[in-house]
Amino acid sequence: MMHRVGIDIGGTRLKVGRVAGGKVIVRASDDTPHDFDQMIDVLARLVEKVVPEGEPFTLGVGVPGVFDAEITGVVDSPNLRFLDGQPLRPRLAEVPGAEVRLGNDASVAALAEARYGKGQEYDSFLLATIGTGIGGGLILGGELWEGVGGMAGEYGHLSAASAFVPEDIPPCGCGNPGCLEVYASASRMTDRGRARTGDPEIHLPDLAERARAGDTVAMSVFEEAGRALGEGFAQVVHLLDLRVLVLGGGAGAIVDLVRGPLIDKVVERCAGRSHADYVVDRSILANDAGLLGASALLP
Ligand SMILES: [Zn+2]
Repeated sequence: MMHRVGIDIGGTRLKVGRVAGGKVIVRASDDTPHDFDQMIDVLARLVEKVVPEGEPFTLGVGVPGVFDAEITGVVDSPNLRFLDGQPLRPRLAEVPGAEVRLGNDASVAALAEARYGKGQEYDSFLLATIGTGIGGGLILGGELWEGVGGMAGEYGHLSAASAFVPEDIPPCGCGNPGCLEVYASASRMTDRGRARTGDPEIHLPDLAERARAGDTVAMSVFEEAGRALGEGFAQVVHLLDLRVLVLGGGAGAIVDLVRGPLIDKVVERCAGRSHADYVVDRSILANDAGLLGASALLP
């Protein structure tokens, strides 16, 4: 029997899981050594723990980064620099019994959503994972669209510069000034909330509670984030005519606060449409999205 295994390569943890029936049934994890050879060794050991000895398996791997055209390895991964230019797929394929495929981490989360989450309701959508940065994955007609090197759906680096004047807002991690993730990632929303409320300890859930209670300072952070997300989604709509944006990562919990300004902005930007044409929904998958989606990369 062919088993399905997913790997989630994160900046701090390596997670490996064997998946069956849409669930992670056996799992193993360890810290991420920031050295390529050591990381391969640790992954090989974790895979051995989750697969019955001698049995064949497919290995789908979610990685935060952009790949070369043949998808053999990462050419740019800001949080895992030791992976840049390394032969990730060939080295993992040396694990006995493994057939390997790599996928961008946000694309993998979108694939999980398509197979096991909101994909049961929506045929085509953009999934945005909102955390330290903003990742994106594109599902078109039920299938994952990754592009040539896995860069498709990089929603966080679409430009939102015209959403408002960026007075107190430093450039994006990618070096550009107006990416929408500088307004709408969880980290940047938290930073702005701290600066504006004068509370250096406040976290996003508390800021969200204040906004729901009508605190206009807290509300301003989410309204800006919503407008920036809408500015970016309007570009996606113009390119692909999508109607559905699914928010995952930590941002699932603030969908209610960003949805209004987000859809307002999309309608303002896209002629001939009304509010009823767009859906902003939240992911229903919890922390296993990375493993579930990675395990679904191979047929
Ligand atoms: Zn950027």
